[in-house]
Amino acid sequence: MILAFIGTAGSGKTTLTAEFGKYLEENGYSVSYVNLDTGVRKLPYRPDVDVRDDVTAWELMEEGLGPNGAIVRSYDLLVPKVNDYAERIRELDGRSDYVLIDTPGQMETFLFHEFGVKLMEAFPDALGVYLFSPEILRKPTDFCFALFFGLMIDLRLGITTVPALSKIDTASVDELRKYLDDVEYLTARLKLEPSTQGLLAYKLCSTLPELAPPTRVLYLSAKTREGFDELETVAYEHYCTCGDLT
Ligand code: GDP
Ligand code: MG
Repeated sequence: MILAFIGTAGSGKTTLTAEFGKYLEENGYSVSYVNLDTGVRKLPYRPDVDVRDDVTAWELMEEGLGPNGAIVRSYDLLVPKVNDYAERIRELDGRSDYVLIDTPGQMETFLFHEFGVKLMEAFPDALGVYLFSPEILRKPTDFCFALFFGLMIDLRLGITTVPALSKIDTASVDELRKYLDDVEYLTARLKLEPSTQGLLAYKLCSTLPELAPPTRVLYLSAKTREGFDELETVAYEHYCTCGDLT
């Protein structure tokens, strides 16, 4: 079973990879770890496959590139090796219960670079976990944005993707859950928004039930391990039923 953690820089991908991996291992599963971030210095887990064995962003910076250029260049250099990486990940998948993929720090390098897109093409049965943190949810339209972003990842990478609110130990989640768990409630609330963005969000959210099965949102904390059992269940159900996460 392959899980890929995807999200903006700082959304908690690396910490969750380490903590959820530890949790699975404590529950008797064998777990392999894949690091796809060329820019990370220190990892809280021991990767079985690590892109930094081929290239790191900081060595490219030492050659004179700026941070953004170095990141993009590092993935350019990895493109010719994408099939090797897919092969190595497939091999890990064959011998472990779970393969956890920690994706690049900056989400766009995964979603917009040939390396990330081609790599995931090799694993159409993987489950994507789209992590977003509570601080991005400030107004009703933000909830619509977050739910749709999960779908956009699905569309782009060709893998079923569940939205997951990360770092729930840092916020009071009850209020947020009202919107995230109940699209009808969210849609009704959006209808009251007078702005053009409100109208756009209202129209988009009205189509959500048609576009996607009522995917449940995960609520996770890598600090308290809250939601880990739920993530395990969703992964298991995905593996068994291939896609039905209602
Ligand atoms: P990444 O860039 O998506 O890989 O994010 P990281 O895993 O490196 O985490 C970014 C920051 O958020 C670090 O300081 C983590 O310690 C912190 N963090 C990650 N997950 C959690 C969590 O569940 N709760 C809290 N409170 N902090 C977290
Ligand atoms: Mg990271």
